[in-house]
Amino acid sequence: MIDRLRAQGIRNEKVLAAMDAIPRHQFVEKGLAFSAYDDSALPIGLQQTISQPYVVARMIEILCDRHELGRTLEIGAGCGYQAAVLSMLASEVYSVERLKMLLDRARKNLRPLRLPNLRLKCADGTLGLPEAAPFDTIIVAAGGLKVPLALKAQLAPEGRLLIPVGDAGQRLLLIERQGSVFKESKCDPPVRFVPLLTGIE
Ligand code: SAH
Repeated sequence: MIDRLRAQGIRNEKVLAAMDAIPRHQFVEKGLAFSAYDDSALPIGLQQTISQPYVVARMIEILCDRHELGRTLEIGAGCGYQAAVLSMLASEVYSVERLKMLLDRARKNLRPLRLPNLRLKCADGTLGLPEAAPFDTIIVAAGGLKVPLALKAQLAPEGRLLIPVGDAGQRLLLIERQGSVFKESKCDPPVRFVPLLTGIE
């Protein structure tokens, strides 16, 4: 998988080492373990998916570019895979998931890895995580039409937020805060994430 990510253009060795350190097969159902290292999204139950390795690597690479991840918030823990990768690179990771059942599965998947700087919470990520804000990095693993205002508000003064935005032609939007200014840029590749919903279930 790591050689393929390199061939696909991922250059950041720290990101590649973090992806190499986390066993992706432990995050998918047993019956799908043989596909765990393919470059595809896979079902994790409740109509959700584990993100494609290239997209996980690319999103983290964008956020690592000339920056430390620092205190990081992930919206959409799903099976917990990306949270584990982030925990190898960030000082602290908070990951929220709106579906309680999935969060239980994520906890089970993550337990053997014993990642001391990762905390999971069942919460509606469109509200951010006010009790742990501000964040140097916010990464959103589900797509909507708008950027939730709470997420921008919970960025540290030099914080960065990466979120898939749009409907059919979804793109990654990078928002870089510089004090009261929020600079926005679109990043490649085009993506297709599960919808960012509200409330918890
Ligand atoms: N990070 C995962 C990808 C999970 S898919 C990985 O490592 O592969 C995206 C997840 O976002 C789904 O589990 C979905 O339930 C969750 N989600 C959607 N809207 C949300 C919200 N408002 N708050 C928290 N989680 C949300």
